[in-house]
Amino acid sequence: MNVHEMTNDAPVAIIGFGAAGFNAAIGLRTNGYTGPIRVFSNIDTLPYSPILTSYYAGGELSYEECFPWSQAEVDELDLDIVHEGPVTRLDTDAHLIHTEKGGYPYSKCVIASGSVPTPVGFPRDCGYDPLMLRTMDDAERLKDAIANPGCTRMLVSGTSMVSLKTVEACLNRNFEVTLVGIMDHVLDMNALPEAAARFEKGLAAQDVALKLANPIKGVEVIEDAAHPLGRRLEVTFANGDVESYDEIFVAHGMRNNLEFVEEDSIVVDRGVIVDGFMRSSDPDVYAAGDVVQGTELISGDKRIVGIWKNAAAQGACAGRTIAAELAGMEPTRPCAESLAMNTISVRDTLFISAGTIQLTDNSHVEVEDGDTMTVVRIFEGEGDTRRLVGFNITCDVDEPGGDAYDLGAMLTMRLCEDCS
Ligand SMILES: Cc1cc2nc3c(=O)[nH]c(=O)nc-3n(C[C@H](O)[C@H](O)[C@H](O)COP(=O)(O)OP(=O)(O)OC[C@H]3O[C@@H](n4cnc5c(N)ncnc54)[C@H](O)[C@@H]3O)c2cc1C
Repeated sequence: MNVHEMTNDAPVAIIGFGAAGFNAAIGLRTNGYTGPIRVFSNIDTLPYSPILTSYYAGGELSYEECFPWSQAEVDELDLDIVHEGPVTRLDTDAHLIHTEKGGYPYSKCVIASGSVPTPVGFPRDCGYDPLMLRTMDDAERLKDAIANPGCTRMLVSGTSMVSLKTVEACLNRNFEVTLVGIMDHVLDMNALPEAAARFEKGLAAQDVALKLANPIKGVEVIEDAAHPLGRRLEVTFANGDVESYDEIFVAHGMRNNLEFVEEDSIVVDRGVIVDGFMRSSDPDVYAAGDVVQGTELISGDKRIVGIWKNAAAQGACAGRTIAAELAGMEPTRPCAESLAMNTISVRDTLFISAGTIQLTDNSHVEVEDGDTMTVVRIFEGEGDTRRLVGFNITCDVDEPGGDAYDLGAMLTMRLCEDCS
């Protein structure tokens, strides 16, 4: 294997060029680091935003609009970007990062490689590769499926934000959409039943067929010359129902891109365990974004909170920390603790949440059911120790700057004050 230049001034390396990786580079440059930065990217484009992929697939955004940073902004950071496919090995003993083509030395390394969706629970050997969403390639595939005039019936499996964004993209193309979930309610990771139930009514009002607590059990690809796609997908649900669809979209879970990390080289649980400065258990390895299990605000536990804002803040913090350490100083500004926050609308039906919905013996739930809005507040403790730890807002209207957004902002502020 070809080992590139080996000097004492080896570059700072960043593995992955998404929100976390890009912000790590900014954090380095804006905190006085002028040395070499080498970025390992397994995509040939500028960094894209996974958030925007469903809007691209649904035809609401152009391809170009999915890239938050311009070439000029990337050039300004003076990066050496290695496009040799994925990093295959991080050798922390030798301080080397390997791709298929060679090994590259590093002084400090930020792991910012994000995650990918997995079709866990989907019958893998059925001969059909379900649609999923993360990368621009995934978005192209979904876009092609949605744009195909022969495709009119979509089954969306999983009831998370990603699934709901896909439901909206399909509704905008006048598809017949069925949403299937394993749990009794949609948004089961983010919403308590009262808020979820109102969201479900909103979906039903938009003719989304709901199959809750009734997951996919089997899928059969049936050749059908009369069908415009030449085949249909016959799906058997847990309750024995059998129905045909043209395509199936799956958002069942995520897996971290950490295959290149050698066993026992750094402490990894569900993600890389980091301290408040994004330092892993290895003094020269840092991590940021969806690969990270950092401190979560409400619980104080180490958790993955996979949202853009956290990835950006953690990346910036990793860059800042490295810049300070390479200058011989102690870092002084840790990263804010992660807070789970979500806003999703499917046409008019809006859902906003922050904090936790995990109830304990100490929890107290208040539900306010209004004409257009259901608000669920989750508190912990009594008297002086009572604090807001989470909330859900479901609203029948999605009006930018409207009451639901105002309330969401206010409750988020209160939650941060109560839990800091
Ligand atoms: C469809 C969808 C909708 C979303 N909606 C929202 C939303 O509304 N709000 C919100 O806050 N968050 C949302 N998210 C989550 C948000 O996009 C992520 O939290 C954020 O992008 C994480 O950034 P990251 O830099 O950690 O990972 P990524 O943006 O995934 O970047 C990681 C990069 O590393 C690359 N990589 C992976 N492995 C390797 C390797 N071995 N070598 C080199 N490079 C590698 C990847 O290809 C990728 O380019 C959404 C996600 C999806 C998929």
